Amino acid sequence: MRRIVFVMCCVLASSACFAWGGRGHAAVGALAQANLSPAAQAQVQTLLRDDLDRYEQASGRRSLASVASWADEIREVASRTDPKAYRGWHGRSNRVCADTLGKCREGLCVDQLIISNARILKDVQQPMRARNEALKWIVHLVGDLHMPLHSGINSNGGGAKVFLEGVEIKGDATLHGVWDSELANAALKGWKSSAVLGAVSLLADDAPTQWMLETRDVALHEVYEPLSGFACKEKLAEPIVLDSAYQLRSVPVVRQQIERAGLRLAQLLNQLLP
Ligand SMILES: [Zn+2]
Repeated sequence: MRRIVFVMCCVLASSACFAWGGRGHAAVGALAQANLSPAAQAQVQTLLRDDLDRYEQASGRRSLASVASWADEIREVASRTDPKAYRGWHGRSNRVCADTLGKCREGLCVDQLIISNARILKDVQQPMRARNEALKWIVHLVGDLHMPLHSGINSNGGGAKVFLEGVEIKGDATLHGVWDSELANAALKGWKSSAVLGAVSLLADDAPTQWMLETRDVALHEVYEPLSGFACKEKLAEPIVLDSAYQLRSVPVVRQQIERAGLRLAQLLNQLLP
């Protein structure tokens, strides 16, 4: 046990420098691509043929994994002039202990944006650029939606200060930040899912909302309930200590969520690109 904890801490320490969520998004894209139907595979190739990067230059990117963080990249560029750019687009603040949905201004939140971009992607009358960007939004947001804290928060919020036992992090570490980066990177380092999409039924239009609510419950049971002193709708004292047991417990949670996201993304794209 002691050795596992030690290895885990080393992995966590070395992964702290990665851009947030990049590894997780790429894993979702790769798993989805491996499960695309031949027809969807061919259409994805066409949609990415003239792909542009965050500066609107030819990106040379041809895979779902390589474009999976584009939505974060354009936000980073936009935020240099507008700190509020794309704010709220990548998640939805559903309370983990309530049944009501979080606010979604003008349809600009994670589940509603997947639904609206799905309409653009499947419409062959839309310009190629619009469908290319819709594809990239969907690849990214299906990943975000399955990250627990993008779909559920408690009173402290995702910005709650945390102390990751045994791990040095530059600057303030937040609960949201470590689940996006340190915990996710540690769980995914050296791991690759070989999950296969089985027989599936047709997805309803609101499937992304159902996935989000399931993820909200993951946030409750796997992110918050294991914190000592947790109580619904009550603030925890900060910084919240995430000990080595908590860190180890997060590994199967991250992997499960990545697999769900990758397989569901494949299912959605197979349906939208028949
Ligand atoms: Zn995001």
